[in-house]
Amino acid sequence: MADDRATLLAKFIEPLRVKPGAEVKLARDFDPGYKASFLSKKDGAAVLGAGVDVLAEYQARLAAQDTWGVLVCLQALDAGGKDGTIRHVMSGVNPQGVHVSSFKVPSAEELDHDYLWRYAQRLPGRGEIAIFNRSHYEEVLVVRVHPELLDRQRLPPSAKGKGIWARRYREINDWEHFLAGNGFKIVKLFLNLSKEEQRIRFLRRLDLPDKNWKFSAADARERKYWDDYQAAFSEMLSNTSTGWAPWYVIPADHKWFARACVSAVLARTLMEIDPRYPRVDAAQRKELAETKTLLEAEAPKGAAPDPFEAGLAAEAGQQEAGRESRQARKQRERMAKIRARAAKA
Ligand code: AMP
Ligand code: MG
Repeated sequence: MADDRATLLAKFIEPLRVKPGAEVKLARDFDPGYKASFLSKKDGAAVLGAGVDVLAEYQARLAAQDTWGVLVCLQALDAGGKDGTIRHVMSGVNPQGVHVSSFKVPSAEELDHDYLWRYAQRLPGRGEIAIFNRSHYEEVLVVRVHPELLDRQRLPPSAKGKGIWARRYREINDWEHFLAGNGFKIVKLFLNLSKEEQRIRFLRRLDLPDKNWKFSAADARERKYWDDYQAAFSEMLSNTSTGWAPWYVIPADHKWFARACVSAVLARTLMEIDPRYPRVDAAQRKELAETKTLLEAEAPKGAAPDPFEAGLAAEAGQQEAGRESRQARKQRERMAKIRARAAKA
C-alpha cells in the first residue's frame, strides 16, 4: 500500500519540481491554472486524504526516531492560499510534532542581526516538522522589490551594492546545504497564483464581511508590483532550487489541486526519509516480558490476563482471512482508479 501511494504521489510531483540550474521564467514555464487532466475535483480530495494519512503515519515515526527534522518553506503572493493550505494539509498530524512560524515585517531587534538570524531561531528540532509561512526567501523577494527595506537592514557598505542578490542566493544555498547535511530535510513550495485569480480572491475578501479582516490596503498596493515580484520569484527559483533543497512550483488557481499537490510533496518527502520506530534490544525485550508477566498476574478475578492481546489476535485473524475495513477498501480502490488513469495520461 505504502509503495502504491508513493508511485502515485511521485507522478504528481515530478512536473512541479524545479530542476537545479534550470532557468525559470514563471510566465513561460508554469501555468497557475494547471490541473492534472487525469484528476477530478473529487479525486483531488481523495489524494489530499491519502496524503494526510501518510503524513500522520510518517510524522509519528519521524518523532519516534528523533533523527531527522523537516523544514517546509511556503511562499506565495497575497491571497495565494498559504494559510488554507497549512490548515488542510496538516489536518491529520499531531500538533506536538509541528510548529508553524509566520514571518512579518522584521522588528528592530531582528534588524539588528544578520538577515538569517530570525529564521534560524525557528528551525525544526530532530523529529519535528517546521513550517515557515513566508520564510528567509522574503529576503530576496519583498526586500528586492522594495530596496528601502534593504536600507533598514543596517548593512555595512561592503555587504551592499552590486552583486548583493547573487550573494544572498549563494548564502542561502550554503545555509540550506549545511542544514541538509546535518539531518534537516528542506522542501520549498511556491504557490503560483495568476493575477486574475488574485483579483477575484481580493474581491471575495471585500465582499464577505467575515473575510474583511484578511484584506489590507497594503495588499492592493503590492499588486502594483506584480511584474517585479514575478521577476524576483523567477530569479529565486532559478538560483535556489538545489538537489538538497528543491523548489516546487504549485499551481494555485484551483485550491483543491494546490492542496492535493502540497500534501503529495510533503508525504513523498517523509517517505524518502522513511523514518522507523526504534527497535528495542534483547535486554529491553526481557524487561518488557517480565513487566507483562507482573501485570497479567494482577488481573482481577474473571478478567482476561491481557485483554489487549486478545484483541490483537482477533485482528490478525481478520487480516489473514483477507478482510479489511470498508473504509480502507474504498480508499484503496479509489487510489487504484486514479493510478490507472494517471498511467494512461
Ligand atoms: P501577512 O503575511 O499577510 O501577515 O503579511 C506579512 C507582511 O510582512 C508582508 O507584507 C510581507 O511582505 C512582510 N514581510 C515579511 N518578511 C519580510 C522581510 N524580511 N522584510 C520586510 N517585510 C517582510
Ligand atoms: Mg497579507
